[in-house]
Amino acid sequence: MTKFKTIQYKFNNFPKLNILGLSKDELYQKLFDLKIHKKELAMRVQQLFSWIHVHGKLNFDEMTNLSKEFRLLMSEHFSITRPEIIKKQISQDGTRKYLFKSSDYGEFETVFIPENERGTICISSQIGCTLNCTFCHTGTQKLVRNLEPHEIVGQISAVKDDLSDWDVRNKTLKRVVSNIVVMGMGEPLFNFENMKKSLKIIMSNDGLSISRKKITLSTSGIVPYIHRVSSEIGCLLAISLHGTTNEIRNNLVPINKKWNLEELMATLKSYPNLSNSERITFEYVMLKKVNDTIDDAKRLVKLIKNIPAKINLIPFNPWPGSNYQTSEPDTVKIFANYIQKAGYSSPIRKPRGIDIMAACGQLKSDSINNSVKKKLEI
Ligand code: SAH
Ligand code: SF4
Repeated sequence: MTKFKTIQYKFNNFPKLNILGLSKDELYQKLFDLKIHKKELAMRVQQLFSWIHVHGKLNFDEMTNLSKEFRLLMSEHFSITRPEIIKKQISQDGTRKYLFKSSDYGEFETVFIPENERGTICISSQIGCTLNCTFCHTGTQKLVRNLEPHEIVGQISAVKDDLSDWDVRNKTLKRVVSNIVVMGMGEPLFNFENMKKSLKIIMSNDGLSISRKKITLSTSGIVPYIHRVSSEIGCLLAISLHGTTNEIRNNLVPINKKWNLEELMATLKSYPNLSNSERITFEYVMLKKVNDTIDDAKRLVKLIKNIPAKINLIPFNPWPGSNYQTSEPDTVKIFANYIQKAGYSSPIRKPRGIDIMAACGQLKSDSINNSVKKKLEI
């Protein structure tokens, strides 16, 4: 009883570390600090990773191949906490949108997109965004903060809870969640270290084991970090291009004023490990009378010359207060045909979850920056 009281006291005063956001190396070090015998360390890390990321356990008590003593030690020092789902919407097409509340401050959104051959989770990297791309709903929300690794990994764990996608005993059954895209709220390369750590946890063979080729990170073009996606993370890269001259792109993706098209394309031409099996995806939102003419298509093909690439054409998804219109379907087809004839795959992305505002660029939460909040309270 005394022991129990001591533990409670300790719990209440020191928030426990959320184990969801720990890499294998960090967990190894933590267990070492807790005086776990050196010989046992690698095995314990592997067992914990499996219980947490393969079986989705929320409680150390359920980890039956670990001794009682070790489970107690774990629960004294760590928690296994997902962000809380405060709203869930299911679209007519099966797309699910989740609004999460963090155990720290703020709310953020995650989308699950079911398809015949795969199931993709679109995760957020930040709450809000510092960039103000003029066609993007998230861009109208000021940056609140970067998401932490336990919140990035936690988005996937919570969606897998909701889909009952853990611990498939029947090995012939496919996992529901097969792919990850970092295309939700925020600019992932402005949260590089947390993204890198989280994606490594997600890729780990002892854990979720989602292959690097099933993960795509999208950036608006933060040039100094682009090569590091290949050399330090290894997942696939998507670039939000959207404009083929500096003038057009400055208006649509204002970060272009800092790193312009010449710098961006030079960086991509020297991107490590480019090949036909590891192409760069260019995302191109089709905006009526802004960037959808045949001259735009010609410039696009010139820009990406010699880069193994695929171009995703995204019909603009409107949101309340947006100033753009979606290009006419025929215009999109003519644009796509030109690019295809030049030898590039150019699928037209079908909007998913549009009835629940879950499509590309429609995400936004009501969270505001703490300092902004304080000002409002005064
Ligand atoms: N911040 C990163 C990750 C977000 S990805 C980035 O910009 O790349 C979201 C993708 O949807 C980006 O390509 C973005 O440009 C695109 N997008 C944003 N708003 C959109 C809208 N209203 N309609 C269609 N696509 C949009
Ligand atoms: Fe931020 Fe990407 Fe939206 Fe631009 S498109 S405002 S970078 S989330």
